[in-house]
Amino acid sequence: MVNQVQLNTIKSFCNKYNAILVAVTKTRSIDELQELYNLNQRVFAENRVQELLNKKDKLPNDIQWHLIGHLQTNKVKQIASFISMIHSVDSIKLVKEINKQAKKEDRIIKCLLQFHVAQEESKFGIKAHEINNFMEELLATDISHVKISGIMGMASFVQDKKQVRKEFQELKSIFNQLKTTYFKEDDSFEHISMGMSNDYEIALQEGSSMVRVGSLLFQ
Ligand SMILES: *Cc1c(COP(=O)(O)O)cnc(C)c1O
Repeated sequence: MVNQVQLNTIKSFCNKYNAILVAVTKTRSIDELQELYNLNQRVFAENRVQELLNKKDKLPNDIQWHLIGHLQTNKVKQIASFISMIHSVDSIKLVKEINKQAKKEDRIIKCLLQFHVAQEESKFGIKAHEINNFMEELLATDISHVKISGIMGMASFVQDKKQVRKEFQELKSIFNQLKTTYFKEDDSFEHISMGMSNDYEIALQEGSSMVRVGSLLFQ
């Protein structure tokens, strides 16, 4: 069931900071998604392609679907015709495939570059020291059907709020660096997707424009 008290609290925080609430609905039932929809939520995110496709079939078609989990190149074609935004772009190979499939669909797909700033080891996400190489390669790639709309990241899963805040500040500074160096004239490079159930308030204080909240929305 949807926790309406939490939903309203999160929504009012988002309004205050002019941010978008992306409802993370992985592992949740169709009934729960429908309930969220009936409460006027329209932006939903899943981290697995198959689960997203199953749910999309059973729900109203004005939902904006976001993909937030690691995306294998061979699955891009299954979502290219409708996906609103892909948050988890961290390789040139993936950018090329998204561009190719978007072109076939005659669409432009919004993508966020995923950065790794957390302490936990992860194979996913671009590391801060890789930014310039990544961007040089990206600039040399055909991305006519991809819109790089900003960045995404996750803070460490720790109790230490100072550490979490520091990592969100790091993401914000990566965003600023990219904005001034590569996207100065590009108004659509505008999003910082950061903040989840545990840390969305800190993320909003540190400049998030999109929070990805899951567990807190349900009871
Ligand atoms: C699951 C998930 C979330 C939401 O996490 P909650 O703690 O349930 O709010 C956000 N981002 C990503 C990438 C996720 O996989």
